[in-house]
Amino acid sequence: MNAEKIFNNLNQIKLSIDEHQREIEKLDQEIGDGDHIFNIQRGIKESLDLKDKLIGQDPDQVLKEIGMKVMTTVGGSSGALFATLLINMSKKYNSELTNQKNIASMFTEGVEAMKKRGKADLGEKTMLDVFIPVSIELQKLSDHEDVKYIAKKIKEVAKNGMLSTEDLIATKGRASYLGERSKGHIDPGARSSQLAIEAICNTIIKT
Ligand SMILES: [Mg+2]
Repeated sequence: MNAEKIFNNLNQIKLSIDEHQREIEKLDQEIGDGDHIFNIQRGIKESLDLKDKLIGQDPDQVLKEIGMKVMTTVGGSSGALFATLLINMSKKYNSELTNQKNIASMFTEGVEAMKKRGKADLGEKTMLDVFIPVSIELQKLSDHEDVKYIAKKIKEVAKNGMLSTEDLIATKGRASYLGERSKGHIDPGARSSQLAIEAICNTIIKT
């Protein structure tokens, strides 16, 4: 893990989010207020703009600075939640650990902080329906040596988590005003989170 790899991943995330822009926008128009795609594209741009400043710095510093940038520039609940994830991931960085163990412990810390910040848990039709299963799977696989295998499994778990939101009734955020009618729609935050995780996994699988 280093600054360059973080920004490379961010670039891959940008490509995938841009490619699925219309789809995410539509999902959010169905059960939200339609600003989610704007918020995440803004967050990605603001983060990528930090590249020259942060290149060469330690990964924890990079994640923290990106998190703080997202916190102060991105609107909507997703901005605060993504920022919480990144800032708390940075706290657990330990260069002594294998990448697998490091990512698993960082990600778990970040996701726990998101749960507290969002006062949400599994099954509430949010991005946590992607992040929680992924953090559990990362823990389970942290002793595994084949990173490509881990990436393939994580990609699968993230996709299943995203798909699971379709049948759920939203109890958090704007979509919760719809009650039963939120059923039958995939959560836009879960979709964008899954696309981001998939982009990172694909980068690992390809290298
Ligand atoms: Mg919104």
